[in-house]
Amino acid sequence: MGSAGHKPLDVAVIGAGLGGLCAALSLRRAGHNVTLYERYDFAGEVGASLSVASNGSRWLLNWDLDIDAVKPVVLKKLVMHEWESGNIINEYSLGDYKAKFGTEYYNFHRIDMHNVLLQTVQQKEGKGFACRLEKNHKVIEVDAQAGTMVFENGKTASADLIIAADGIRSITRRQIGIEPKVEGSTSCCYRCIIGAEKLKQLGLSEFITNNGIEFWGGFGINKIVLSACHNNEVVSCYCFYPAVFNGLDKDGWNIGATPQELCDTFPDLDPRIKKLFLNAEDIKMWRLYIHEEYPCWVKGKVGLLGDAAHPMLPDQSQGFCQAIEDAAVLGEVFGEEHFTGDVEQALKRYEKVRKERATRVQVASAKARTDLSERIGWSTGNERPDKLTIEEVCGYDLPAHVRKVIQGEV
Ligand SMILES: Cc1cc2nc3c(=O)[nH]c(=O)nc-3n(C[C@H](O)[C@H](O)[C@H](O)COP(=O)(O)OP(=O)(O)OC[C@H]3O[C@@H](n4cnc5c(N)ncnc54)[C@H](O)[C@@H]3O)c2cc1C
Repeated sequence: MGSAGHKPLDVAVIGAGLGGLCAALSLRRAGHNVTLYERYDFAGEVGASLSVASNGSRWLLNWDLDIDAVKPVVLKKLVMHEWESGNIINEYSLGDYKAKFGTEYYNFHRIDMHNVLLQTVQQKEGKGFACRLEKNHKVIEVDAQAGTMVFENGKTASADLIIAADGIRSITRRQIGIEPKVEGSTSCCYRCIIGAEKLKQLGLSEFITNNGIEFWGGFGINKIVLSACHNNEVVSCYCFYPAVFNGLDKDGWNIGATPQELCDTFPDLDPRIKKLFLNAEDIKMWRLYIHEEYPCWVKGKVGLLGDAAHPMLPDQSQGFCQAIEDAAVLGEVFGEEHFTGDVEQALKRYEKVRKERATRVQVASAKARTDLSERIGWSTGNERPDKLTIEEVCGYDLPAHVRKVIQGEV
């Protein structure tokens, strides 16, 4: 039965990254008018893979996202290789994954996902009203009580609800009084891609068609994570190494490296991967940070979402999935069934449902940085009772959790 108080809100979403776009899609489908404010004129996303487990993919499908247009690879296994020889030392089959969790474990190219989401939120077709996108609108001030925003270009705007999806360095987060406690990780990461044609020429075709996430190392700082995306036409690698290796003064998404520098970072690695590295493209360095859980996520009319709320290390491949869950919960608490018309109440419900679960994944991601046995799939849960498992993450019943929290209020 629907809630009598539901009314369409004017919603502002700050940041049109992957998280903000999911929030826009979910809230549009919940009957609200959404405007996205993005600081850039769309540099868009970077070239790298993005794996989406069922706790995320289930919502992308619920929201009628055209998954085929995102050029998916359906993951069938996790593979562990010996660092130097490349011999396979362990495999985790995802053969029964869909039967167990309802949707596939997908791998995408980040750029494909961003493009399709961007198009989907703005198109007329589909449930709800088309979202508006204001580019070159960098938010510099937010008043959480009044629901107003000031942009760097001199413009202002107001909304009934403001969702801040402005990323790991969120300005809005500071505007609502949160000072992050941040520590630089001792790990750093290179990401790179290589085309399928090139891999064929190099005699490395197996990495195009394995349909798995493949790991080298992972017990300690060094780890290579390789997977195919973009309809198996691109292979992407994340390469973790000690941050001291190339100095701690560099930061940002755009610090490049040469294939030789990438290769020299891992002298003893499987020769096949070094061959791949010597032919890789778009090699970029990525500094990693560990954020402590924030004291709160919401204030007045503002709610944080995605990396603005719970930035996490990439070692559980769950940052985007957790942003999808954030967006899905917003769709529930501001949807027909539960929304009473009280924005602050709905935001408190959002925080109550999301913060504990996202923090648990955030903490487990930091543990998995140097211990692959903590990564869902590899973690059995038997070694330690509180270990995060694939069942807990992928088998999560989000609507039931929302209902339980709301029922607990009375
Ligand atoms: C290399 C890498 C690999 C990853 N792999 C995976 C994976 O396999 N699976 C997975 O689930 N997750 C993965 N993640 C995590 C996932 O990508 C992030 O958690 C997710 O992209 C966060 O999205 P976001 O929208 O919250 O933040 P962002 O993607 O950072 O987007 C923030 C947006 O806000 C805009 N913005 C910032 N400030 C302002 C402002 N003041 N005003 C207006 N706009 C602003 C930015 O320009 C940007 O468009 C990975 C992350 C990285 C970096």
